[in-house]
Amino acid sequence: MHDIIIIGGGAAGLSAAKEAYDPGLKILIIEREAQLGGILRQCIHNGFGIHKYNLELTGPEYAQKTHHLLEGLNIEVLMHSTVVDIIKDDHFELTIMNPTDGEFKLTAKAIIIASGCYEKTRSQILLPGDRPAGIMSAGNAQRYLNLDGYMVGKKVFILGSGDIGLIMARRMTLEGAEVLGVAELMPYSNGLTRNIAQCLDDFDIPLYLSHTITDIVGKDRLENIVISEVDHAFNSIPGTEKTFEVDTLLLSVGLVPDIQMFESLQFHTSPLPGRSSISIFKPRSMDALRAAMLYTFMTLLTGSVKKVKKPDDMQKCMLKMSSNPPPLNRWNPVKTSAMSCLNALIMKIKMRPFSFH
Ligand SMILES: Cc1cc2nc3c(=O)[nH]c(=O)nc-3n(C[C@H](O)[C@H](O)[C@H](O)COP(=O)(O)OP(=O)(O)OC[C@H]3O[C@@H](n4cnc5c(N)ncnc54)[C@H](O)[C@@H]3O)c2cc1C
Repeated sequence: MHDIIIIGGGAAGLSAAKEAYDPGLKILIIEREAQLGGILRQCIHNGFGIHKYNLELTGPEYAQKTHHLLEGLNIEVLMHSTVVDIIKDDHFELTIMNPTDGEFKLTAKAIIIASGCYEKTRSQILLPGDRPAGIMSAGNAQRYLNLDGYMVGKKVFILGSGDIGLIMARRMTLEGAEVLGVAELMPYSNGLTRNIAQCLDDFDIPLYLSHTITDIVGKDRLENIVISEVDHAFNSIPGTEKTFEVDTLLLSVGLVPDIQMFESLQFHTSPLPGRSSISIFKPRSMDALRAAMLYTFMTLLTGSVKKVKKPDDMQKCMLKMSSNPPPLNRWNPVKTSAMSCLNALIMKIKMRPFSFH
C-alpha cells in the first residue's frame, strides 16, 4: 500500500509530491499522458515562473523546472495510466488502466487529486445556431497547434476574453491565421491587461466587450458567426448584429475542475455556482488560498491538514470567500494557479486524518 497517491502529474501534482515528500513515505504520481507537466506543456508562451522562480519561463520550461525539483527524491511515477475509479473504505482503492497492464488496482492511505480542469464546451454555454466543424475550445486548438503541429483554421473568431483566448488570438495570428475579433460577454475582459496589450492591441485584433454570439452558420464547416451587443442583463440587443465570415470559432469561456470521476468520494467542494472558472480567483489571504485551493480542485484527500482542523472550517472559509469575491478582472494566473494554492496549503500538511462526509 502507498502512503500517498497523487492523481495527475501537472504542476499541481508535481508540487504536491515535492511538498509531501518524506523519505519515510511511499509516494506515487499517476499520470494519464506519456509525459509529466500537464497543461503547461502546451502553453509555449512566456510569463510563467515570475513569482516562484523569479524568472520569465515558458510553460514547458516551468514544468521541467518543477519536475527537476523531484530529482533524487524517491517518488514513483506511473505514466500513461488513468485512474478510472476510487473507492474509499478505511483506505483508498484506485482502479487504474493503462495499455501495458490493462485494468489493475492500487491502494493508498491518502490521495491527492491534482487532475486539473477542462474547458467549457459550446453546449455548456448554450450557443445557438448550426453545428458545423470548426468550433472548438481555445485550449484544444492550443494543443493541436503547439503539441501536434496542426493549424486549426485560417479565419478565426474567439469567444471569451480570458487569458487562454487572448493568447490563442496572438498564437493563431503568428501562425498566419486572420483573427477577426474577440467577443466578451462582460463589459470588461477577464484577461490580464498585459495580455490585452500584447495579444490583441499589438496585432490590431478588435475586442468586442458586452457582446456574445447570437448565431452560427455553416453546413459542414463553419461559414460565419453573428455577434450582438448585450444589455446589463446579458440579453442581446436587436439591431446590433455584426456578421463575420470565419472558418473557425475558438471558445475560451471558462474552466471546470475535472473531478466528476471522484464525486462519489463526497468531499467538500466550493459552493460557488458551477465551480466553473478558476480564473476568477485571486487569493488574498490564507483563508482565500484554502478556498481557492478547493475551488481549483486541488482537493486534498490526505485527511491531514494541520491548520484547517475540520471539514467545517474549510467550508467556512469557502463561504467567506464566496461572500466576498475578488473583482473579476484582476486574475493573476500565477498566483491563482492551482500549484501556488496547493503549495500554500500543502505546507500545512501533517499526517492526521479527518473524516469525510
Ligand atoms: C487550455 C488551458 C490553458 C491554460 N493556460 C494557462 C496559462 O497560460 N497560464 C496560467 O497560469 N494558467 C493557465 N491555465 C490554467 C492551468 O490549469 C494552471 O495554470 C496549471 O497549469 C494547472 O496545473 P494542474 O496541475 O492543476 O493541472 P494540469 O496541468 O491540467 O494537470 C493535470 C494532470 O492530471 C492528469 N490527469 C487528469 N485526470 C487524470 C486521471 N483520471 N488519471 C491520471 N491522470 C489524470 C492530466 O493528464 C494532467 O497531466 C490553463 C488551463 C488550460 C485548461
